[in-house]
Amino acid sequence: KAPFTGVPGTDKERTFIAIKPDGVQRGLIAAIIARFENKGFKLVALKMLWPTKEKAESHYADLATKPFFKGLVAYFSSGPIVAMVWEGKDAIKTGRVLLGATNPAAAVPGTIRGDLAISVGRNICHGSDGPESAVHEIANWFAPEEVSDYPRSLDEWIVSDN
Ligand code: GDP
Ligand code: MG
Repeated sequence: KAPFTGVPGTDKERTFIAIKPDGVQRGLIAAIIARFENKGFKLVALKMLWPTKEKAESHYADLATKPFFKGLVAYFSSGPIVAMVWEGKDAIKTGRVLLGATNPAAAVPGTIRGDLAISVGRNICHGSDGPESAVHEIANWFAPEEVSDYPRSLDEWIVSDN
């Protein structure tokens, strides 16, 4: 059985995707989830939670030296988020493609940020940026029993071996 954090590089690759407080406030939960569902990725975990300041700080620990860190932590802990784990081949990299560039001004139309956001400080969504951060972030926000490992018969119409 695969670890609940997934197995990067396989069909069981998993990524942590979050709808940030502004995405929730703006009523974009369904629209963002739809991008991932329509793409063909499989939702294996989902919950709403209100991040504490401490949890936001640890989530963004790698950015602690940035001038915008304090504002970023305040932003991420300013209301409930929707935390999710999505599974599928290249879910980490392709998930970032669906989100679009960090700065919505540079994000191309067709991406979530490119279509739905304007400011880098209010860019509505988060996605793991690599295999190590995906494993770390999934474990940081979810307990093993919150992630559902389930077969999907539709997969033969979405995934081919080559
Ligand atoms: P991401 O992985 O695409 O989310 O981007 P980063 O990991 O580089 O940054 C994390 C988050 O910090 C981004 O999603 C933005 O919300 C925020 N951020 C990044 N750069 C800036 C910036 O220059 N100014 C502000 N205000 N926020 C930023
Ligand atoms: Mg990042």
